[in-house]
Amino acid sequence: MSHELFSLEGRVALVTGASRGIGAAIARALARAGADVAAHGNVNSADATCEQIRSAGRETVALVADMADPAAPDRLVHQTVAALGRLDIVVNNAGIIRRAPAVDVSDADWDAVVSVNLHGVFRLCRAAGRHLLAAGQGGRIINIASLLSFQGGLNVAAYAASKSAVAGLTKELSNEWAAHGINVNAIAPGYLRTDNTAALQRDEMRNRQILERVPAGRWGEPSDLDGAVIFLASRASDYITGHVLAVDGGWLAR
Ligand code: NAP
Repeated sequence: MSHELFSLEGRVALVTGASRGIGAAIARALARAGADVAAHGNVNSADATCEQIRSAGRETVALVADMADPAAPDRLVHQTVAALGRLDIVVNNAGIIRRAPAVDVSDADWDAVVSVNLHGVFRLCRAAGRHLLAAGQGGRIINIASLLSFQGGLNVAAYAASKSAVAGLTKELSNEWAAHGINVNAIAPGYLRTDNTAALQRDEMRNRQILERVPAGRWGEPSDLDGAVIFLASRASDYITGHVLAVDGGWLAR
């Protein structure tokens, strides 16, 4: 019974930014729970992730797109349905960060971060929403937010602004689509060991400060999100929508 509650068998997922880091781990977790998975990358292909999905016995396709391209989200939805037959779960994970004091942030860096982390996320939610509403079988959208959906951070103005906006967007869309069985939630990862946080891991002082503040006493690994993702993608979370779930080793509770 509990196994069935979390099973994704028969479902198809699209995961952006699945070439590495958190997105690759999410794609693998969804496949292990039974979903076929379209794995997206930008400059790096998601071929290695697709290999792992196949090893889990699931179907997959590698898709390539720049999420800053306004045409990319619609194309990704069409390509997923064309390759895997349907679409039930979308994980909006692709994201970038640029670190600099606010007074030094260039327009180009601001635009780059907001284009991928917010505009791209909205457009993919919209494309998925159109598809899921028309299909009439419900669905799941999971946006990857951040601790900076709750806090301000330092030297990451565009990132904090975009991730706070993702939390608001998640709640807004959940209200519009709940009656159609389309649940829209977000996961706010804590400090996870990926390329995105490489600069912090390398900085001895920041690394120590982070470890001292995380109640769990360690950096998170991308696989620490597996349970939350499967939960939010599965029937187990049918009555949960508009929620931003922190998976942070206790950081926000501190
Ligand atoms: P990562 O290791 O740097 O991976 C970023 C992913 O996003 C890659 O797959 C990359 O594709 C893709 N991507 C980058 N720019 C893109 C673009 N313009 N168009 C399409 N895809 C693009 O980062 P990560 O740590 O796994 O982060 C994944 C998500 O989690 C992000 O939204 C991030 O903000 C969020 N997050 C991370 C942490 C953390 O501690 N790591 C904490 C909170 C939230 P390519 O490989 O092709 O470049």
